[in-house]
Amino acid sequence: MKELTCPICGSEDFIFPIGPRNAAIMIIGDKPTDNDIKYGKPFTEGSGTILRQEFAFRGIDTRQFRVTYLRSHISATKKLSPKCFEIDALDVIKEAKNKKLIILISAEVVKYFTSQSVENLMGLMTTSQLLSAPCFCMESLGSIFNRGGVVGEVRLSIQKISEYIKKEGLVK
Ligand SMILES: [Zn+2]
Repeated sequence: MKELTCPICGSEDFIFPIGPRNAAIMIIGDKPTDNDIKYGKPFTEGSGTILRQEFAFRGIDTRQFRVTYLRSHISATKKLSPKCFEIDALDVIKEAKNKKLIILISAEVVKYFTSQSVENLMGLMTTSQLLSAPCFCMESLGSIFNRGGVVGEVRLSIQKISEYIKKEGLVK
């Protein structure tokens, strides 16, 4: 039996952040997929696997990262509720306070935190008025594949992020 119900939309399908609460690095993705809900954690799709593998290939274990979605749930009617979103976004911003690096993944997340399009910021470091840590921006891997993009641009972004992480000593 599920224990939590959203008082606004009635959804019971929440995906909560994973990884250590005091992690130096946080990944913020967009919203849960059906697969995530089935397994009860974020980034369960193939694109999540690629993300973990690309970091692992560079000697970085993403289990050291805090991983969350900007939306903890999609409303029970499968619509995106602005009210639910407001609450989720405040929680994420609160969680992000003690982080040293934030990785923003997907067009929606980049737009929300930087007011810019992901095309302008893909693979670049930037700042957000809502976050104290520097942010790296990436398109979601699913979107890249859907529009026939190549995994090369993902690799390039992860390479840059990995170099920064090592230079700053953000992981063990
Ligand atoms: Zn809700």
